[in-house]
Amino acid sequence: MRKQVVIVGAGPSGLLLGRLLDLAGIDNIVLERQTQDYVLARIRAGILEQTTVDLLHRAEAGHRLAEEGIPHHAVQLAFDYKSVSIGLSQHTNGKVVTAYGQTEVTRDLCEVRDASGSETIYEAADVEIHDIDTAHPFVTYAKDGVTHRIDCDLVAGCDGYHGVSRKSVPESAITTYEKIYPFGWLGLLSDTRPVAHEVVYANTERGFALCSMRSMTRSRYYIQCDVNDRVENWSDDAFWDEFRRRLPPEMAEALETGPSLEKSIAPLRSFVAEPMRFGRLMLAGDAAHVVPPTGAKGLNLAASDIHYMYDAILAFCAEGDEAALSEYSRRALDRVWKTERFSWWLTNLTHRFNDDAFEQRMKEAELAYVTTSDAGRQMVAENYVGLPL
Ligand SMILES: Cc1cc2nc3c(=O)[nH]c(=O)nc-3n(C[C@H](O)[C@H](O)[C@H](O)COP(=O)(O)OP(=O)(O)OC[C@H]3O[C@@H](n4cnc5c(N)ncnc54)[C@H](O)[C@@H]3O)c2cc1C
Repeated sequence: MRKQVVIVGAGPSGLLLGRLLDLAGIDNIVLERQTQDYVLARIRAGILEQTTVDLLHRAEAGHRLAEEGIPHHAVQLAFDYKSVSIGLSQHTNGKVVTAYGQTEVTRDLCEVRDASGSETIYEAADVEIHDIDTAHPFVTYAKDGVTHRIDCDLVAGCDGYHGVSRKSVPESAITTYEKIYPFGWLGLLSDTRPVAHEVVYANTERGFALCSMRSMTRSRYYIQCDVNDRVENWSDDAFWDEFRRRLPPEMAEALETGPSLEKSIAPLRSFVAEPMRFGRLMLAGDAAHVVPPTGAKGLNLAASDIHYMYDAILAFCAEGDEAALSEYSRRALDRVWKTERFSWWLTNLTHRFNDDAFEQRMKEAELAYVTTSDAGRQMVAENYVGLPL
């Protein structure tokens, strides 16, 4: 088989790229290790920047998002049970973020791909990427015990942090930067009315808490926990008790509780691999970088990578422009590092870990500064809605 582009991974980055290439008439195939049901059931991010919303519309996959997405005009930072709201639109020429789950984004992208008849191979095992340093790369995979080969011009590595694409690059050609945080997030999803209309990041002496929503009837809440803790140690009641104790009093009183639909513990890390292009292989999304979920940037960075990658692939397919492939890495990394900085900064500001009394007072002073200075509020707002592409 021959395709112009082989996309490894049917997460949001792979599916978005596949759709944009379809609309541009560029022949592509997606190889996914899991079943489609598994991909559609994954619960992850929930806040979309305006650039991500625009890209989903450009991919003609924004119909349900336009109807069901919930715009947030502000974000709240709470310290020691007092919450301050930072307006987003007034500091960013009217930009907002939209609450719409990654699960729904994936579903919408899968639906348009399936309807277009473009090929996705689910349960593709043993994916291997070959000859990326030549003009004739190819990808092999096994399905139902049979090995297949796809020759191509380009490979898009959209297979997440644990995928095969980044590992296909010789170690000497890649530099990685990593920070592991000494805590995790325990998350709970429930069909309860969200306690706040905006996302709330709370720093308390008991640790961090986050209030977010997937819809007006579905809430997603998190608490900072020990990274080695186990989800079995947390009954729903234990979660609700601890969560309530980390909220400002008016929110604690208004909190609606109910049975969990999902509960999980996620570790937090910052990670960047550079460059993001190696010969005919380009990496996007979590395959190239990871941010801690504070700031809701993971899915949005995956989408902005695809914006740049799509430009590069168009230029390459139309004019054989190899320079556009290198330019992809430069453009994407410029935004990646700025976004890594914001996610790292917000994580440090809102969590308690290894803090002595001085560190804690510094965080309080920083919060007082960013919430009362116009420049500070603008810095938070313009990063939260997403830096320009
Ligand atoms: C538990 C969890 C919670 C998160 N919560 C948030 C959040 O609240 N807010 C936020 O902004 N971000 C969050 N993120 C981050 C966000 O979900 C990711 O940044 C986003 O999914 C990146 O999309 P992607 O397409 O690059 O990678 P992924 O979504 O990881 O997709 C990669 C795909 O590649 C497939 N794959 C992997 N290996 C192979 C292989 N060898 N062969 C073929 N296919 C392969 C995988 O099955 C997967 O379908 C969370 C991530 C995790 C893991």
